[in-house]
Amino acid sequence: AAASLADAGAPTIFDKIIRKEIPSTVVYEDEKVLAFRDINPQAPVHIVLIPKVRDGLTQLSKADERHKDILGHLLCMTAVIAKQEGIEDGYRVVINNGPSACQSVYHLHLHIIGGRQLKWPPG
Ligand code: 5GP
Repeated sequence: AAASLADAGAPTIFDKIIRKEIPSTVVYEDEKVLAFRDINPQAPVHIVLIPKVRDGLTQLSKADERHKDILGHLLCMTAVIAKQEGIEDGYRVVINNGPSACQSVYHLHLHIIGGRQLKWPPG
């Protein structure tokens, strides 16, 4: 019961991507995380990086002590993926948290965006 409460939140499209029930272009995968090309890219390189097990992490603001390892792993893998994509000279890692930040999928994910000159502030 504790586990199901902790993982409260409806399944998302990312569950189907993880289970390969809907196709995606995977660019990196290991036992803990999956990275695939965003279906609506905002730059020449736009990758979505997710934990394979949501474990209550519908959004970053739900993070607690037990998520430290996976959050560290996700951040570390952004560098590996950026290098693989040839954008190590400059890229952005974004986590949209909640409706006011335009989060649309409630399974924690990092956007890795690059391949063009990015503007700051993003708007
Ligand atoms: P959010 O707006 O929640 O931060 O980001 C969700 C991202 O997932 C969006 O950029 C959206 O384009 C992407 N996305 C949503 N559904 C799919 C899908 O079925 N396949 C892929 N590859 N990306 C998706």
